[in-house]
Amino acid sequence: MPGGVDSPVRAFKAVGGIPPFIVRGQGSRVYDADGNEYIDYVGSWGALILGHSHPQIVEAVKNAAERGTSFGAPTELETTLAKMICSAIPSIEMLRFVNSGTEATMTALRLARAFTNRDKIVKFTGGYHGHADGLLVKAGSGMATLSLPNSPGVPATYAQNTLVASYNDISTVERLFKRHAGEIAAVIIEPVAANMGVVPPRTGFLDGLRQLTSEHGALLIFDEVITGFRVAYGSSQDLYHITPDLTCLGKIVGGGLPVGAYGGRREIMEMVAPTGPVYQAGTLSGNPLAMTAGIETLKVLGQPGVYERLNRQASSLERGINEAVASANLRARVTRVSSLLTVFFTGNPVFDYESAAGSDKGLFAAFFQQVLSRGIYWPPSQFEAAFISLAHSDEDIQRTVEAVGDAFQYLF
Ligand SMILES: *Cc1c(COP(=O)(O)O)cnc(C)c1O
Repeated sequence: MPGGVDSPVRAFKAVGGIPPFIVRGQGSRVYDADGNEYIDYVGSWGALILGHSHPQIVEAVKNAAERGTSFGAPTELETTLAKMICSAIPSIEMLRFVNSGTEATMTALRLARAFTNRDKIVKFTGGYHGHADGLLVKAGSGMATLSLPNSPGVPATYAQNTLVASYNDISTVERLFKRHAGEIAAVIIEPVAANMGVVPPRTGFLDGLRQLTSEHGALLIFDEVITGFRVAYGSSQDLYHITPDLTCLGKIVGGGLPVGAYGGRREIMEMVAPTGPVYQAGTLSGNPLAMTAGIETLKVLGQPGVYERLNRQASSLERGINEAVASANLRARVTRVSSLLTVFFTGNPVFDYESAAGSDKGLFAAFFQQVLSRGIYWPPSQFEAAFISLAHSDEDIQRTVEAVGDAFQYLF
């Protein structure tokens, strides 16, 4: 297995050492094969907003498995989860389930191109939208972690159709629309950038994108694979009051099983086969186990007080880390939107990929190793978010803040 992993960010290439092999997760904790216990802030990269092995999910998935793991025929579970998503996110009038976020974004772009009869798309430097060919251009996540600007194997003729703008800088998008008038099918964006570390949108930036795309007849695609049901039950489009044309989901809506989804305006979605001519299919799409885990997860997330609790835990972690930064007299800063959080080792403001990349990666790696040795499983990259779950207790947060404080004292 290349690097010993099935996804590059799981390896410790950027921080050094060998990742622990996980044998079990429970609540906020994961346990490795060597008998160590960690407070986990990876949470399957955001999918496990309820924590590991949530009893309600485990029970429901067990029961579903007994009824059959896949049929290749329609089930009521798909309709149930689809209805829950449509009512949580009103811009999604119709949707299709797929097996990963990658499939969701790849298909949303195919659909946008078919709908507008245009070829070019705009993405942002440091934005990660899965590993489909045309999206591996100046991408975030593992591409940023491993300093790969573009991936070999993507035909130049294909990458030419991907235009790149700067996050939080509307003028770079305006320029592209001017230069490529009538050629841009869609702008795809993580409304809250979370794959260059967490970088919140500046006031007015997402509104500006909505206005520009509408003026130029291009679609606005919100990649909410991380932010969907994370920053609010109605996702970031609810938090920032923007209505995109298409939305991509994944991670949380699968409750820890493999899922993606794309959806949006009815007239666009009706172009998908078999209703329309845009082809997209999947042997295991809408898989009953994944649908079940998704349904149970959204049931819990729909209860009152859930997002208040997530925000409270995350904000106390943020406050604790900020105090530790101050008392160690460090040039570091915490960025946070709801339960997504990053510690950047820089004295400068972080508002786009370049400013995020200005963080001291050597210091991050040292910080990572220090907290890992104190039982904290932080994401092993400067360019990823730490994910707070409903399972993180006050004691977990307190222990994490202490470990971070000790790590800073040891390092500086
Ligand atoms: C994780 C992620 C993807 C890709 O999803 P996979 O299920 O890993 O294919 C796409 N977009 C964003 C914003 C992501 O964080």
